[in-house]
Amino acid sequence: MSSNPIGTPIAAGAIERLRAAAGPGGALEDPSDTAPYCKSFRDGWEGRVPLVLRPQTTAAVADVVRICAEAGIGVVPQGGNTGLTGGSQPHADMSEIILSTSRLNQIRAIDIVNDTIVVEAGVVLKAVQSAAERVDRLFPLSLGAEGSCQIGGNISTNAGGVQVLRYGNMRNLVLGLEVVLPDGSVWNGLRALRKDNAGYDMKQVFIGAEGTLGIVTAAVLRLLPKPTASETAWIGLASPAAAVALLGHMRARLGETISAFELIGRSALDLLLAGVPGHEDPMSQVHPWYVLMELTSQGVAGSLNAPLADALAAALERELIGDALLAASGAQAAKLWRMRESLVEAQQAAGGSIAHDVSVPVSRIADFIARADAALAAACPGMRHCAFGHVGDGNIHYNPVRPLDWNAARLRQERARVNRIVHDIVADLGGSISAEHGVGQSRLEELEHYKQSVELDMMRSLKRALDPHGIMNPGKLLVR
Ligand code: FAD
Ligand code: ZN
Repeated sequence: MSSNPIGTPIAAGAIERLRAAAGPGGALEDPSDTAPYCKSFRDGWEGRVPLVLRPQTTAAVADVVRICAEAGIGVVPQGGNTGLTGGSQPHADMSEIILSTSRLNQIRAIDIVNDTIVVEAGVVLKAVQSAAERVDRLFPLSLGAEGSCQIGGNISTNAGGVQVLRYGNMRNLVLGLEVVLPDGSVWNGLRALRKDNAGYDMKQVFIGAEGTLGIVTAAVLRLLPKPTASETAWIGLASPAAAVALLGHMRARLGETISAFELIGRSALDLLLAGVPGHEDPMSQVHPWYVLMELTSQGVAGSLNAPLADALAAALERELIGDALLAASGAQAAKLWRMRESLVEAQQAAGGSIAHDVSVPVSRIADFIARADAALAAACPGMRHCAFGHVGDGNIHYNPVRPLDWNAARLRQERARVNRIVHDIVADLGGSISAEHGVGQSRLEELEHYKQSVELDMMRSLKRALDPHGIMNPGKLLVR
């Protein structure tokens, strides 16, 4: 048995069974209802399905997957549909169904002694953060899409975001998983343990698997102490090299209190100020680059203010920075963070970009940006710079924006050529072509091109072992 051949619509009998398995109100079939699930938020990924299923229990997910396994139907798992690589979009041949976790949205338990929370895959990230806050804890994963992305999607993309520097990415925050496997069996790995060396750590296989190995239905997540003191600074500086030097300077003085350290290019800020209403330049003078930095600790409120001011004064003296502004209130800090979070929207407003979510060793960041800027200036005159990202993780969102004389079709045509230019530099610097967003459909060819064949073979062996009929998110992450 194999996945439905491309272009083979799903048989009416299977549709009938799937509809019943999803439970009352669990199936969407009208194209006007299914369309929003079939389109990506960015980059125009779009497909078609005869059914979007929204089961409410793990048992119902398992029933759906079992039917799909028997009939060789492709299953596209979907959470909040905020992914940026076309990973949760179906193909257009009507041979797949979308399995949305939106109604699998219960918080099952919170243990404040063990500092863990058990949530279903469809719980929105923001809701997990709020639940943690209500019991005086922190769930530290934080990203621009947190109001709509879901925990299952965060796990399946091994999401990063702005606090990885301090708390690690999703992989570090998951203690246990419940997964529906591609044959419809359920693995209950909801162990709330910080130590467990009893064999292979199977949960790690599903984290970052982009729905190609099974459907995550629930997870045990770590909770951390809720910070009681925090400070936010907006810092103007001359170059990415200065930002990296500043990170070293700040780490030496402030250590683990640094919870975020984000780089923003002036050209990215200009796109934001010009294209997205409601933002203003925080500084009166223009700087070529900015860092948005956050410190948190368990100290008394305000206790980080003096150490931060001292560290900034020393940085100014060493000429690492041009200017710095300390947020005077929580509201001002939130305003600065909204600017950082709106950079995705700024690129859309400017006519679209060619996104690269790359990582290099922190020591090579400045080199990467300089080389990529020079290469693109030569290859695509008029391309507008837009670089920002998580400096402490070596993760840069290098998203040059469409030249004014290109239309959207030209931008699409040029994508592969621009990708290759940028990714060749990344590879040369020992980096990765996907730091946090994953592979989905948009990085498939690049992964085949840059990944060692031995590594690709291991990935394919794993896929075959768990999903021998290739029904789980076909054609994502690995070529089908
Ligand atoms: P979806 O988009 O629905 O799915 C993503 C992938 O996971 C797909 O392959 C899908 O098939 C699979 N999947 C979803 N749920 C399951 C499940 N239960 N079981 C198995 N597979 C599943 N990402 C970052 O890492 N860091 C950022 O800073 C960041 N910032 C962003 C800012 C904005 C404004 C936007 C729009 C996106 C941003 N993203 C970021 C990308 C995106 O938000 C993350 O990838 C997020 O983790 C996706 O979650 P989701 O629920 O929307 O997943
Ligand atoms: Zn990011």
